[in-house]
Amino acid sequence: MRIDRLDVYRVRIPTAINFRTSYGDHLATDTILVRMESGGVHGWGESCPPWFPGYSSEYTAAAFLTVRELMAPKVIGQRLDSAEALLERIAYVKGNQFARAALEIAWWVLEAKRLGVPLHEALGGKGDRVKVGADCGVQDTLDELMAKIQGAIDAGFPRIKLKFRPGWDVKMVDAVRATFPDHTFHVDCNAAYTIADAPLFRSLDRYRLAMIEQPLQDDGASLVNHAALQKQIETPVCLDESAQSLAHVRAAIALGACRVINIKMARVGGLAASRDIQALCAEHGIPCWVGGMLESGVGGQICAELATLPNFTYPGDIFPSSYFYTNDLGKPEIVLSGRGEVATSTVPGIAQEPDPDLLARWTVDHATYRA
Ligand code: MG
Repeated sequence: MRIDRLDVYRVRIPTAINFRTSYGDHLATDTILVRMESGGVHGWGESCPPWFPGYSSEYTAAAFLTVRELMAPKVIGQRLDSAEALLERIAYVKGNQFARAALEIAWWVLEAKRLGVPLHEALGGKGDRVKVGADCGVQDTLDELMAKIQGAIDAGFPRIKLKFRPGWDVKMVDAVRATFPDHTFHVDCNAAYTIADAPLFRSLDRYRLAMIEQPLQDDGASLVNHAALQKQIETPVCLDESAQSLAHVRAAIALGACRVINIKMARVGGLAASRDIQALCAEHGIPCWVGGMLESGVGGQICAELATLPNFTYPGDIFPSSYFYTNDLGKPEIVLSGRGEVATSTVPGIAQEPDPDLLARWTVDHATYRA
């Protein structure tokens, strides 16, 4: 396909709640949407970097600039018949995975629409629904947390993730386990600790958590330190922030740095990389799950399509729109199709697109390219 037109949007979507993690408060989602057009057909993709460089060194304003100045000009007017061909055009830019993914993900949605198949079929996945989990941020009180967990269990979420940070840690997990002895839980530390905290993580073994997500800092020694930690604890370590690419995951497996991988499609550079990582992990008996960055319904649905691939065996961080938004930019909004389940696409590509009025209201920056 020849890329005839590209529109790149930076959009700030207000959230319904303050989602608190070890990075601080999240009051709005600062995201990037790309509309890619070829032969009169268009597809919408989304890459949702963090709004400031805390989760990763990338952040939305910088990723938008990278796409606008360095990547989109290399793609417009080009004949790109595969995701690899697109990635080749922008391979001269090092790192910048969220920026890379913004274009690559839009290419896949457009390709699926051109082929006339749902996105998950274009990716090689199958199934009309995927299991999804709940995610509880840091709350003001344990009572509020217990109420949130009860609500998630009542809604049928098969597993619940608990954000975990200094001051909201072992005592919190102890209280949750005492109240809910049998449900599946895991904790997400968002890189808030160091290997010196290994005894704290050893003390979590008795709570039968499904995993400990990204316990340690995401620095140059991250994989070595996570391998050292995994040797000292029974609970599986899951990498998120440190699993930045297929190469990072290959190194993590070689070192024994984890027993689970959270795959965020944009953090790893797009859907082809996501697919390669889940296949590599399958070869090594390492289960995966799809992570999220509080994407709009557009990105959320793409995450659900990705989650149909075979090695995504743990329920993903894919949320009904109402979980974080009073008015989702993506329409139709994502709803639970069953207990703890989200339906996959039944139309070519995905059904979700940005609502034009909300897009106009919330766009911070926009660039257009025509061949
Ligand atoms: Mg995480």
